[in-house]
Amino acid sequence: MSDRRLRATGAQANDPIPRDGVREGYWRDTPLSKMSDREWEALCDGCGKCCLNKLEDSETGEVALTRVACKLFDDGTCRCSSYPTRHRYVPECIQLTAESIPEHLYWLPQTCAYRLVHEGRDLHYWHPLVSGTPETVHDAGVSARGLTVSELVVPEEDWEDHIIEEP
Ligand code: SF4
Ligand code: SF4
Repeated sequence: MSDRRLRATGAQANDPIPRDGVREGYWRDTPLSKMSDREWEALCDGCGKCCLNKLEDSETGEVALTRVACKLFDDGTCRCSSYPTRHRYVPECIQLTAESIPEHLYWLPQTCAYRLVHEGRDLHYWHPLVSGTPETVHDAGVSARGLTVSELVVPEEDWEDHIIEEP
């Protein structure tokens, strides 16, 4: 595996992500490129999986997910601990946009709401916009909460020992 790190966030603002004031079911008939900033932010399910380091095989292009999280990831809240200023500490953190999603699809989590909407699929029952609570993404076992170790304590050469299946 190469050591290329792949991670990004569509929206990981403070907890909870503001989801009020958006039209019910808007993601079913609003293209990502037409969403307002609020609609875009509300789409993030808070799973945190995009904050986990991935390893990309430089020869095959195969991407493996690890449980080694970005140094700013808070495993307890499943949020970025310094979202507004994160680029000061993690300049490689990617801000997803409607335009850039196609180039990131190869590594975005299978359950990522931006992937689902991009592919014309509906959100899952546990998405906070559907369930009405941010807890369901954790209850359904599809988030990174309680799963991670920090990159601050796992040297990069050992990341291969922490490869996991996507929850
Ligand atoms: S992977 Fe999860 S936390 Fe990351 S942008 Fe997608 S929905 Fe949000
Ligand atoms: S800086 Fe790290 S924890 Fe924060 S959003 Fe980016 S990848 Fe996630």
